[in-house]
Amino acid sequence: MKKTVLVSGGAGFIGSHVTVELLQAGYEVVVADNFSNCDLTCFEDVKKITGRADIPLEKIDFCDEAAAKGIFKKYHFDAVIHFAAFKAVGESVAEPLKYYKNNLVSFLNVLEAAKEVGGCNVLFSSSATVYGEPEKVPVTEDTPRQPAMSPYGNTKTMCEDILQDTVKASGGTIKGILLRYFNPIGAHPSALIGELPRGIPNNLVPFITQTAIGKRECLSIFGNDYPTPDGTCLRDYIDIVDLARAHVFAVTRMMEGKMKKDCEIFNVGTGRPVSVMELVNAFQKVNNVKLNYKIAARRPGDVTAIWADPTLANKELGWKAERSVEDTLKSAWAWELHLAGK
Ligand code: UDP
Repeated sequence: MKKTVLVSGGAGFIGSHVTVELLQAGYEVVVADNFSNCDLTCFEDVKKITGRADIPLEKIDFCDEAAAKGIFKKYHFDAVIHFAAFKAVGESVAEPLKYYKNNLVSFLNVLEAAKEVGGCNVLFSSSATVYGEPEKVPVTEDTPRQPAMSPYGNTKTMCEDILQDTVKASGGTIKGILLRYFNPIGAHPSALIGELPRGIPNNLVPFITQTAIGKRECLSIFGNDYPTPDGTCLRDYIDIVDLARAHVFAVTRMMEGKMKKDCEIFNVGTGRPVSVMELVNAFQKVNNVKLNYKIAARRPGDVTAIWADPTLANKELGWKAERSVEDTLKSAWAWELHLAGK
């Protein structure tokens, strides 16, 4: 029988790409989402890409404990991948309680539900934000975590701890993997699914594509006086499909009982630092479009430089980021054009 994976937040940006990769790898997927930050179109497009009109969809909010428990009783899950969370850093500073409540309660309910049915393999979507401003780059999984810069970041750190403690206390019935994502960008090669920010984008690449298409007037580059080669911040931009593939390797490892510890941590990045300026230039070059940008003040809370040492994921998961920044930036632009109906 095919193994079944629950993807909470499966209609969102990362969740939809992961759903596609899981189905294409031969797993069954149940998508659960409350559609608070996405609409049904994306789920419909996942069906188109995979040729699977029958993907089960559960419209639930994981903050509803009874609903979370209900779904674990309705299906048998071999693994759960938890994405359902709020993700806007700035909003989390303005509305911390909203973030703590949603992001913590939904994950607690997933774990309670998993425990109630006798356990499960749980993959949590963590973030490089847990490393804060690292003293040394690239960062390995052993690089110490730093106090989070925002309530959003704090929920990632707290959920990491919650999963580790739960795994420890479960007597081997709950296994966990924490994937720490660097900066996911780009879109599916079909250009049918991609990032759909509501309102003004916070992240760099959606802001670039929206400026290039004319939805925004001008991109502000937040600071060019950082101690980096060109003065702009360095990040590890990872292609969304590469990132999604890492989840397939991780859940396979869990479901096949190949983990070396009951709770494992992997950096999911390319190992390649790229500056904001380099990314902007590459975008213009590969897509042959002109971008209106200006240098602006630093954005409070930004770290100067962070990128991954992905050696552990390469070795243990057998996974490696493959797509070039150029190809990823082409996919981001193709997605923006698709949204514009061009
Ligand atoms: N950035 C920028 N202008 C924008 C958005 C982001 O210059 O409109 C910069 C930001 O300062 C950071 C990099 O782009 O150096 C990546 O920012 P993003 O918000 O995408 O990711 P994160 O800050 O979480 O790494």
